Amino acid sequence: MTERGRRRGLPLLLTVLAASGGLLLSGSVVAASAAPSPSSGQTASPALDDCEPGDTETLGARTLKGLDGVVRGPEPSAATAEAYERDLARRVAAGEARLAPGARGDGPRRITVPVYVHVLKPSTKAKAVSRAKIRRQMKVMNRAYAGKQWSKARSTRFRFKVKKVDTTVNRSWYYATLGSKASREMRKTLHRGKRRALNLYIGAPTERGGLQLLGYATFPQRAKKKLTLDGVVIHKDSMPGGRFRGYNKGDTAVHETGHWLGLYHTFHGACGKKGDRVADTPSERVPSFECPRGRDTCPSPGVDPIHNFMDYSYDRCMHHFTPGQIDRMRKLWRVYRR
Ligand SMILES: [Zn+2]
Repeated sequence: MTERGRRRGLPLLLTVLAASGGLLLSGSVVAASAAPSPSSGQTASPALDDCEPGDTETLGARTLKGLDGVVRGPEPSAATAEAYERDLARRVAAGEARLAPGARGDGPRRITVPVYVHVLKPSTKAKAVSRAKIRRQMKVMNRAYAGKQWSKARSTRFRFKVKKVDTTVNRSWYYATLGSKASREMRKTLHRGKRRALNLYIGAPTERGGLQLLGYATFPQRAKKKLTLDGVVIHKDSMPGGRFRGYNKGDTAVHETGHWLGLYHTFHGACGKKGDRVADTPSERVPSFECPRGRDTCPSPGVDPIHNFMDYSYDRCMHHFTPGQIDRMRKLWRVYRR
């Protein structure tokens, strides 16, 4: 099939980053316009609810570019990211990133994250994601965080172990998209464990109009404030062997968990100085789709980090975190999740 033909076959997904509570919700959540998809028909505005002021919820999402035309949604606003960074700086200054007394070296070599898997079903009759598929997904995550998707990748200290799997039949939760009331309700009800526990929700997040999201996640800064909303949501078809061609090797969970551990997109802040707050990821003006090797969209040194897990490339194209990202995840873990 031609490249164009292959692209046409992809579901049209939307690039969105949202926060409820005013920072992002009011104004900066937009549905980028794109060529209509034969299946989904139109580009829709995300269904988002207003929250009380101060109830900020920022979520990172990974989405597909399905058709011709650039589909790009908003990033966390500069104000949201600034607020997050200020909170981090304040806590680091207060000593919250320090190692526990008696810790040797630079801390534990391994951090095993307990994972509560919440499988959503739209109806009683619908087939739930199998345990075998969940195991394959965990394997992909553990390989990715161990630096095993690429010979030059470095290992992070994080590994993931399923603690419990539960299944819930709830149609609106199954389709719940970021920032929606249903999503918040789902997380409030099903969330288990403490700040160090990863709650992984598996459904089919779909915007009004049929746009499907690969996944979304909350940032760690959020966990200290509203733990029950903390977690990662992935589309079942992003899991290994799922229907989303190009995006069905399980790297969406890797990417979303990257947000959950405190990483921004590599294209965050575009070509600006601060970028994604990580020094060794070259800046990037726009997300990468598919696998545009050698692409370079910013005047600063370095080609675009299209192989980084925090970009939007095809799963087969993304394969590592940089040492800077690995350090950032560890630092934020100490401050927000231990
Ligand atoms: Zn993302």
